[in-house]
Amino acid sequence: MVTIHSSLNSLTESSLLRRRSFLASLAAIGLAACTPEDTVSSHGNGEGLSQYPVESLNEAEEAGILQLREEEKLARDVYTLLEEKWGLSAFSQIKPSEQKHMDAVAKLINRYDLLDPAQESIGIFENQKISSLFETLMTKGEQSEVDALQVGMTVEDVDIYDIDEILSKNDNQDIQVVFTNLRNGSIKHLQRFYTDLKTLGGTYEPQYISQELFDQLTIGI
Ligand code: MN
Ligand code: MN
Repeated sequence: MVTIHSSLNSLTESSLLRRRSFLASLAAIGLAACTPEDTVSSHGNGEGLSQYPVESLNEAEEAGILQLREEEKLARDVYTLLEEKWGLSAFSQIKPSEQKHMDAVAKLINRYDLLDPAQESIGIFENQKISSLFETLMTKGEQSEVDALQVGMTVEDVDIYDIDEILSKNDNQDIQVVFTNLRNGSIKHLQRFYTDLKTLGGTYEPQYISQELFDQLTIGI
């Protein structure tokens, strides 16, 4: 397995400084608002956030929101392409959740009037670390079904790791709610990929989260 960057935390200066208009945000969010919920609790797609205050946003919180928006896109794009390549049900079943996760982060982008870094095109990312991770993961995922499922594991692995990093620096309730639900989704996905991977005789070593956390999250599989 290729060694991957230890963190996706840094973002370009320009992405931190830019803002897009509130109306443009609304246009993007409006489509997402109709998506049904499929995760473990009621805020997985960002519904119900209006009950939480829009608090001040520190630099780490802003960077975390922008990073997670593209990290959820990474998951959606990789699973879209690997589903086309291999036709594995894990990818087709998990992919819609990643779109909902993107939509949930978009609601935070809207609430804080940030510029959305996510572009429509599959495989295109503003965050260069996510962009190069995409390339690395796709090269591996196209090798075999086992590699593809290991790539799915790594996407969830990095997602859980980065969410934990961001939550450790966050004190905004709405961010806490959305990211906790993204994390819960990632745990379910990690478990699904691991189940299918083991059925094919594959193994996985965590690349980001600790072995201890990995064992805890996959107990019984
Ligand atoms: Mn996700
Ligand atoms: Mn996921």
